[in-house]
Amino acid sequence: MAKLLLLVAVVAIVYVLLKNYKRAIARQDEAARPEKAAQPGSEDMVQCAQCGVHLPKSESFLSQGSHYCSDEHRKLGVSRRDK
Ligand SMILES: [Zn+2]
Repeated sequence: MAKLLLLVAVVAIVYVLLKNYKRAIARQDEAARPEKAAQPGSEDMVQCAQCGVHLPKSESFLSQGSHYCSDEHRKLGVSRRDK
């Protein structure tokens, strides 16, 4: 019977430690997220030369010095210039 009580106690301790561990990890994740989200304006915004929509520079398609929102608009813009 004493062994059973000891087993229950050990399981309870492990359970509590795991719970605290998960909570600590969740708190770290929450703490890490705002840092990434805190700089939404740090990236340059560019305007699509075809439709005028604004988008982050890293997501734009660059062609002949102009930015486009999609590869389709890039092709449209290039073909328009060729004429
Ligand atoms: Zn566009």
